[in-house]
Amino acid sequence: MCIYSRSRQKHKAESPPTNPSPVLAQDGIIVYYKFMYMRVETDMNMIRKVLLLLIFTALLYLPLPDSTYGLSIPGDTERYRERRHKMVETQIVARGVTDELVLKAMRDVPRHLFVPTRSRGSAYRDHPLAIGYGQTISQPYIVALMTELLKPKQDHVALEVGTGSGYQAAVLSEIVRSVYTIEIIPPLGNAARERLEEMAYKKVTVKIDDGYFGWKENAPFDCVIVTAASDHVPPPLIAQLKNGGRMVIPVGHPFQVQHLMLVTKSMEGETQMRDILPVRFVPFRREWK
Ligand code: SAH
Repeated sequence: MCIYSRSRQKHKAESPPTNPSPVLAQDGIIVYYKFMYMRVETDMNMIRKVLLLLIFTALLYLPLPDSTYGLSIPGDTERYRERRHKMVETQIVARGVTDELVLKAMRDVPRHLFVPTRSRGSAYRDHPLAIGYGQTISQPYIVALMTELLKPKQDHVALEVGTGSGYQAAVLSEIVRSVYTIEIIPPLGNAARERLEEMAYKKVTVKIDDGYFGWKENAPFDCVIVTAASDHVPPPLIAQLKNGGRMVIPVGHPFQVQHLMLVTKSMEGETQMRDILPVRFVPFRREWK
């Protein structure tokens, strides 16, 4: 007891011996043990620090899950994110959309990057916006409502007719396994394809074509969404809808009030139509020149 306390004093007073000899007095030997113990402790600390640094570096390089892509897109800033969250609360939740997957997708997809640069400031307002060639990106609430009506699930395959800016396809792709989307106006379809690739929306495939005939190679679809108004539901789209699948489509004449219709196909293959609400969409066209 007495020896130990003296050794502590000694250790404090002098620097530890670098080459202690075994013939040292008892005090000296204790100092030597302490010195060895301190060195071992210092080495353990160093190893711990290096290990923590390695783990931290490895975490930085881990790939992000799909659902966070919306948060890591260049051009998406805190300011836009705040506007988007506000848009979801005031325009979408307030009107009765409740599907959490849909709300999350609407919060994650940077709508302002799908509209012309000059319109970015208006991207989160409660109305549709022009995207060129006489076409429009739908009002946020309509995008959310149509997506919710489809009851999309993680393992679903979806077809969209009317790619436009690619926004609706991006929203849907946050939820389902894959989205096939068709656009009839080549410059719009090509621009959407590039935009979606740049933003790493890897689950979306764009084709330039007349969507009236659907996309046979990837059919049947769990969900079909048409974003241009047709005077009838194209029969090929009904044929390509899976039993138990759902389709949303605005039906009516161009530039008049149309009806957003929900088409459901039972497990036995019977179709039913339900009128959801009056809407106004750009016309479904059969050619572009
Ligand atoms: N979903 C789009 C909105 C697009 S507006 C978005 O999120 O931005 C409707 C689009 O349907 C237009 O781009 C129009 O060119 C396209 N369209 C109209 N008729 C079509 C058809 N027969 N086949 C494919 N696309 C069509």
